[in-house]
Amino acid sequence: MPINSGLPARFNPASYDAIVIGAGLAGSTCARRLAEGCGWRVCVLERRPSVAGNAYDFVNEDGILVHKYGPHIYHTENDRVHQFLSRFTEWTDYQHKVLANVHGTLMPVPFNHASLRLAFGPEKGERLYAKLVDVFGKDKKVPIMDLRAQGDPDLVEVADYVYENIFLHYTMKQWGKTPDQIDPSVTGRVPVFVGDDDRYFPKVAHQGMPKDGYTKLVERMLDHDLIDVFCDVDALDLLDLSKDRVSMCERVYGGEVIYTGAIDELFGSDMGDLPYRTLDMRFETLPQDQFQPVATVNYTTSEDFTRITEFKLMTGQVVPGKTTIMREYSKAYEPRSGQTPYYAIIEDENLKLYRAYRGRADDILNLHPVGRLAEYRYYDMDGVVASSLELSDELVAQH
Ligand SMILES: Cc1cc2nc3c(=O)[nH]c(=O)nc-3n(C[C@H](O)[C@H](O)[C@H](O)COP(=O)(O)OP(=O)(O)OC[C@H]3O[C@@H](n4cnc5c(N)ncnc54)[C@H](O)[C@@H]3O)c2cc1C
Repeated sequence: MPINSGLPARFNPASYDAIVIGAGLAGSTCARRLAEGCGWRVCVLERRPSVAGNAYDFVNEDGILVHKYGPHIYHTENDRVHQFLSRFTEWTDYQHKVLANVHGTLMPVPFNHASLRLAFGPEKGERLYAKLVDVFGKDKKVPIMDLRAQGDPDLVEVADYVYENIFLHYTMKQWGKTPDQIDPSVTGRVPVFVGDDDRYFPKVAHQGMPKDGYTKLVERMLDHDLIDVFCDVDALDLLDLSKDRVSMCERVYGGEVIYTGAIDELFGSDMGDLPYRTLDMRFETLPQDQFQPVATVNYTTSEDFTRITEFKLMTGQVVPGKTTIMREYSKAYEPRSGQTPYYAIIEDENLKLYRAYRGRADDILNLHPVGRLAEYRYYDMDGVVASSLELSDELVAQH
């Protein structure tokens, strides 16, 4: 089925068994599973001109495949999710590595054996490493609070270094916080890796990048005789939730509605706006083969941006003589400004507001919120797909 722009003049929601709002990974997974599992006709409405939601990628004017809404690295322990997604793509064998730029020195993150040598010099670094191996064993991920708990001044020194140079300033930039506003329980979980593996997701069962990109993956997922996709359509212009019923195009809708947009927007934010962080992403193509040693370099002690991504190093695309990089600047999201809400701010007050909206949504029996915006939480792609498969299972079982 082609991906359409806008709705046909005689659009009739009643001719569909389910309406899916949003063509990101959540909506697309539900659409496919319901079309296959129930034999339903499914209509997908997407506000943007493109499918794949925040995982959308495209070839830019310089011929380089870039991720418009931030770099996405696929990794999962979930075999079912992996099997499902692998129906729509082959994977590259990309293994993600991250370096931190600490006052101009690049060192692996999570902080490991090599980082210790770079931070403290070879001799002292080796001595500290030997002590870490002695206390915790080799190839272990140890939170810095466990280092502090030992009461050994050497291990406290390592914990303090990691806190100050890898975590603190980066987190302040990312979340716009002062040090005293950062939750100590989060701080304590910052890990040190006692070993040499410098991969960001060591030992994860499945890791890589979709061979032809995420947009192609999602397009193939939506390519089914029973699925119609309409982009450039804001479903909230068609949807009415008054009287605890879903109406579409001014008629009560009896099918199932899967909603993957922001849950506060669903109710016109009438109880207040759920706060988010947004990102200002600045892309630049440089006349050189390569800009940095790995795909992601975090700026943990300097600069206003949090990190630089170099896409070719992630996608494996070969384009000689030029490379596209992207700097990420984090800032507070302003509702109704056209900005993209990226990261939910998981704090008690916000969760209370989320639960109030969620309770209202749950009172409407044929309305099903799913995905990162509708569930107001940070989800990796595999988590969103898992949650969408679970919801679809329930609907398939009911019908
Ligand atoms: C900067 C960044 C980097 C990330 N990196 C990774 C990573 O490396 N690895 C990883 O696994 N995950 C990563 N993620 C998480 C990943 O983006 C999400 O888990 C996943 O894309 C969420 O899918 P979704 O369908 O729930 O939401 P989205 O992708 O946001 O899709 C929701 C869709 O609904 C549409 N929509 C909303 N409201 C309406 C409406 N009223 N009418 C019509 N359409 C509507 C939106 O336009 C959007 O297309 C990252 C996230 C960010 C922000």
